[in-house]
Amino acid sequence: MTPGTGRLAVVGLGPGNDHQRTPEASQRLAAATDLIGYEPYLNMVQPVLAHQTRHCFDNREEAQRARLALELAAEGRDVVVVSSGDPGIFAMATAVIEELHQVTGTALGAVAVTIIAGVTAASAAAAVLGAPLGHDFCIISLSDVLKPWDVVERRLAAVAGADFVIALYNPISKHRPWQLDSGMNIIRQHRMGTTPVALARAVGRAAETVRIVTLSAFDSAEVDMSTLVIVGSSTTRQFVDAAGRSWMYTPRTYPAN
Ligand code: SAH
Repeated sequence: MTPGTGRLAVVGLGPGNDHQRTPEASQRLAAATDLIGYEPYLNMVQPVLAHQTRHCFDNREEAQRARLALELAAEGRDVVVVSSGDPGIFAMATAVIEELHQVTGTALGAVAVTIIAGVTAASAAAAVLGAPLGHDFCIISLSDVLKPWDVVERRLAAVAGADFVIALYNPISKHRPWQLDSGMNIIRQHRMGTTPVALARAVGRAAETVRIVTLSAFDSAEVDMSTLVIVGSSTTRQFVDAAGRSWMYTPRTYPAN
């Protein structure tokens, strides 16, 4: 490609293997000259083609990744920035659009940017569980790396009080060991102990495990950073079918007050 004809796509890889990747995402990945991303996510893109250069980054270096992507595209390269799941949900689309905003009016600002949606962890996990997100729900990241913990606490209290189903992304990590228990205690003030809670780990990957417990039996020791936690609302139900499989769903109707 020659300067001025480069392009940049922020691509959602889906939750796991490429069977949950959209055809549009796969096409852009195959056409790319440069793949940019956090190394474990780049490793999910196979095979790497002979004409492709990989640029591996640490998970925290989002602004640098975005800037490099714009620079390479401005030089005429066909650039793909990868995110797991959907790139707009706690992922790279924001960093790229933020950088694009900052370079408005410069040569970098003229780069053709596309965001390509992917299957986010919440919808992939919901599909394995049945239909826990069938009624109103919200998504909250428990990470307090980019936002203060008291903001997380206020949001949890508000959505738990408003009876949303709650999908918790980034529930726990080595550097954030206590936040999950603290957050679940806030939710417990608003929900019955019998409320179904799903632990959906590595959905769509070889290591996938899915378990449905109750809010009172929930144990954060069973959760790791590749787990999505879904806390049911007051109407969410759980049952075991004739084949012994557990299901979780939230009816679309709501009891009248
Ligand atoms: N952009 C991603 C989310 C990135 S935040 C998406 O749309 O899915 C990272 C968090 O997402 C993890 O801590 C975990 O809570 C959740 N997650 C990502 N992939 C997952 C998977 N395959 N199974 C379960 N949870 C997953």
